[in-house]
Amino acid sequence: MRVALLGHKGKVGRVLLPALEAAGHEVMPIGREDRIEIGGADVAINFTRPDAVFTTVRMCLEQDVSCIVGTTGLGRDELDHLGDVARERSLVLFVAPNFAVGAVLMMRLAAEASRWLPRVEIIELHHESKADAPSGTAKATAELLPGKPAIHAVRLPGLVAHQEVLLGGEGQLLTIRHDANSREAYIPGVLLALDRLPTLPSGLTMGLETLLDS
Ligand code: NAP
Repeated sequence: MRVALLGHKGKVGRVLLPALEAAGHEVMPIGREDRIEIGGADVAINFTRPDAVFTTVRMCLEQDVSCIVGTTGLGRDELDHLGDVARERSLVLFVAPNFAVGAVLMMRLAAEASRWLPRVEIIELHHESKADAPSGTAKATAELLPGKPAIHAVRLPGLVAHQEVLLGGEGQLLTIRHDANSREAYIPGVLLALDRLPTLPSGLTMGLETLLDS
């Protein structure tokens, strides 16, 4: 496929670019300084920044290019608006707060465990340059759990991307933890999204879990 990669110089982008090429895709790299002129691309992958994601995704959709979005920070209204733009143009907008398969399994296991241990809190731990807090994954996990679980965000050097879901009961504690120790963790999920893109309906599809079941 012809893939426009927005954010190719970022921490995720610079790992993703060679992986896309190794998988046989033709990559059009787009950085912050570049004009977004991607007519002719089959898909645009977005790993930019929370303050750039809404505008850049809309620009790609308006050029009739479907989008795969890993950048966090899109609010519910923004997702709905971009989903409408995609559907009107018969394009796919696939957004995943976390492309690491292990993290998606962590969320599922936490939801299952919370049926029996409903007192839950979330700790998410990330590198200190992460722009948003709490993380998109922590917010998506919380939505699967009972009540409104507290989310604790830690930003420190030495961390990459980690999350613990703690489920407490009388005399017992269950901890479900996922560690992404390098950005390679996201590559299989992005390649899966590219592979499944032609099978997805037009408009918004959220979450890697929707692809794991198909
Ligand atoms: P990063 O290192 O800050 O990289 C972001 C890149 O995007 C930078 O090279 C930046 O360029 C570029 N950029 C900024 N505005 C742009 C624009 N308008 N057009 C094109 N490129 C632009 O961040 P990262 O760690 O790679 O993460 C990127 C995003 O993905 C973050 O929101 C992060 O939370 C999210 N993320 C998601 C997942 C997931 O699985 N869904 C996994 C990891 C990270 P400059 O440096 O010149 O500003």
